[in-house]
Amino acid sequence: MLDHVPASGCDTRPILRERGQREVFCGLTGIVWMHRKIQDAFFLVVGSRTCAHLLQSAAGVMIFAEPRFATAILDERDLAGLADAQEELDRNVARLLERRPDIKLLFLVGSCPSEVIKLDLHRAAQRLDRRFNGVRVLNYSGSGIETTFTQGEDACLAALVPELPSTDSAQLVIVGALAEVVEDQWRRLYAAMGVTNLAFLPARRAGDMPAVGQGTRYLLAQPFLAETARLLDARGARHIPTLFPLGAEGTTAFLRAGAESMGVGAGRFAEATAAAEARARAALEGPRARLAGKRIFFFPDSQLEVPMARFLTRECGMEAVEIGTPYLHRAHLAAEMPLLPAAATLSEGQDVERQLDRCLAARPDLVVCGLGLANPLEAQGITTKWSIELVFTPVQGYDQAADLASLFARPFARRDMLRV
Ligand code: SF4
Repeated sequence: MLDHVPASGCDTRPILRERGQREVFCGLTGIVWMHRKIQDAFFLVVGSRTCAHLLQSAAGVMIFAEPRFATAILDERDLAGLADAQEELDRNVARLLERRPDIKLLFLVGSCPSEVIKLDLHRAAQRLDRRFNGVRVLNYSGSGIETTFTQGEDACLAALVPELPSTDSAQLVIVGALAEVVEDQWRRLYAAMGVTNLAFLPARRAGDMPAVGQGTRYLLAQPFLAETARLLDARGARHIPTLFPLGAEGTTAFLRAGAESMGVGAGRFAEATAAAEARARAALEGPRARLAGKRIFFFPDSQLEVPMARFLTRECGMEAVEIGTPYLHRAHLAAEMPLLPAAATLSEGQDVERQLDRCLAARPDLVVCGLGLANPLEAQGITTKWSIELVFTPVQGYDQAADLASLFARPFARRDMLRV
């Protein structure tokens, strides 16, 4: 199915909507970065051997550490076998929690096999939560039927929101898993502006999750948190619309919007951020020299495509051919969309064969895509960048702006070296 429709609101750019076969990872992939973020949480996937293989290969780097995720493999069984499956799950959880008293938050993560779909993981989580004192047990789905890879983070945070304590105090909450180095930088910048009532969701430890309520204003650090935002709104918190914190421009807009919501004046904001912004702009000069004038094509994968394209075209001089994203959240991307180059095609959803045809016809210099498409495109002589790297690497904030640009410059450097 293919149709051109104008975007809602004041942005009238046509959007190519596609609803065909798609090539993306499922939401289980989010566990790979979420388990590093919440340091006393454990993710128990209830799934098949395929799920276990996916996690093992995606998170191969964890092999030397005490793992904080595992897969409880549920083999094929009929309805009568489901009662046994519940008991088996309880036994597995009991064994795990006895062996690992450091676990304070346990996520039961659903997947796609039909046996898992039949199992009521929400009730299982409630039952286990009552049974194990001192360990919060929650559930969410990382199934490939319902989620693309970054939506796993959204589903995980959405499971946390109803559990957060209540407060009506005025505070700023930054929502989305960020590298600690980024959080620390932003804490310092906000402290320099006098903003100390600042919290992050998720927190690094289960017991430190922020309270939320009427006085909460929140910034979304990631564009893929639609459900989390909806639930925060339902708790009385208010979203602050702005750019996402990619590049110097995005970071300044993002931090400024948060500062304004806390009553910080323009002078104080500029005083606190000017040096860091100038450093970021200067550091971008190097990668910009390699990227300027290069044509880039985004396949839909991480939902980071729109802010990423805005950064690469406005701050690195690239030309966007197509900006594909799995889902376009009009309200959350309202500040981003008018900054995209008018000539680029904006597409939502995927029909992979059609998109490959468009890509091959356009012959871009660089394609951002999932792992499954990278090899066939490289074989056609097209340079690629794996979009999954963008969520594994700290890319938000001033000090990371040049690193982010370098991620895109590196494939060109590699290609040049191979040519030599
Ligand atoms: Fe595959 Fe579904 Fe398991 Fe993801 S959740 S690894 S898509 S079976």
